[in-house]
Amino acid sequence: MLPFFTFFALIITYIVYNVFNKKKNKIQCSSKKTENILSQNNKKVPLSVNYHFTRKCNYECGFCFHTAKTSYLAPIEDAKSGLRKLADEGMKKINFAGGEPFLYPKYLEELLRYCKQVLKVESASIVSNGSKIKYEFLQRNKDYIDILAISCDSFDESVNKKIGRGTGKHVEKLSDISRWCREFGIKFKLNTVVNAYNKSEDMNENILKIAPFRWKCFQVLILENENGGEGTLRDAREFVVTDQEFEEFIQRHSKQKCLVPEPNNLMKNSYLILDEYLRFLNCTNNEKTPSESILDVPVEKALMQAGWDQEAFIGRSGIYDWSKQPSNICGNNQAKELEW
Ligand code: SF4
Repeated sequence: MLPFFTFFALIITYIVYNVFNKKKNKIQCSSKKTENILSQNNKKVPLSVNYHFTRKCNYECGFCFHTAKTSYLAPIEDAKSGLRKLADEGMKKINFAGGEPFLYPKYLEELLRYCKQVLKVESASIVSNGSKIKYEFLQRNKDYIDILAISCDSFDESVNKKIGRGTGKHVEKLSDISRWCREFGIKFKLNTVVNAYNKSEDMNENILKIAPFRWKCFQVLILENENGGEGTLRDAREFVVTDQEFEEFIQRHSKQKCLVPEPNNLMKNSYLILDEYLRFLNCTNNEKTPSESILDVPVEKALMQAGWDQEAFIGRSGIYDWSKQPSNICGNNQAKELEW
């Protein structure tokens, strides 16, 4: 009898072990698979696209590098048609950005649902300043949002005001949103632009409190025809930090597991940016030069004009666990978040 039970126990242990490990490795395998698609294929694949469907914004950040040069919003059917073309060419992640995407909540909601329900993209995310986000929006759309990224450059409101991020309630709203994201199983991300006003700040304690799953820290970037100061809506020159100042900020926060630093050299050509007319923006000449619109030419042709560096995209860890799965999380809420 005893050998039978031992044998039975071994079989059960084997099955449980394998099921657990398969689940654990699924995310890593999926991103490895995606990297393989890119490296085996000489053709560029628009795997992760940042669609800045509006340039309008209710904030006035002094260093903004996607300014309100137009107020154009593509008809929703054009936006969907462009997204469909991108998905047909291999897009797996779509990020909606602006300007401020929540200035058009209905439009945003329709595109999120279209991408997740119809196009079946792996990941849909949004970058927002947070000020217009409502609890009900997240509650209604929780199944269609994998990641919500909020921009915050300081936990000191006087610094946020100097930068142009809001009128003094930015941190309070940030904390509400991080809580709502936890409630709805949406991954909460934080974006910080390291600049002359926040370069000396120690954010460690606050990062632990709000517990983002990913904290991107960008070095403030000058693009001639956006924030270069000569005939542009913004002049970011007073915000510039040196490479060393940026590095000091990163070192100060190096214990944060979720920290992802992005100095200028990593940032410039590694993002695939689609503007409000569904044109890729080429940043190789230190300004944003538009390609032809993907509404008019094949995606492949527009991609050739995008100046996008696919290697740099992979190099800056552009492929990561971007759908709703557990991952490295900063802060005290880790155990709770791992329940996602
Ligand atoms: S919130 Fe973003 S889009 Fe709006 S002004 Fe600031 S940097 Fe620009």
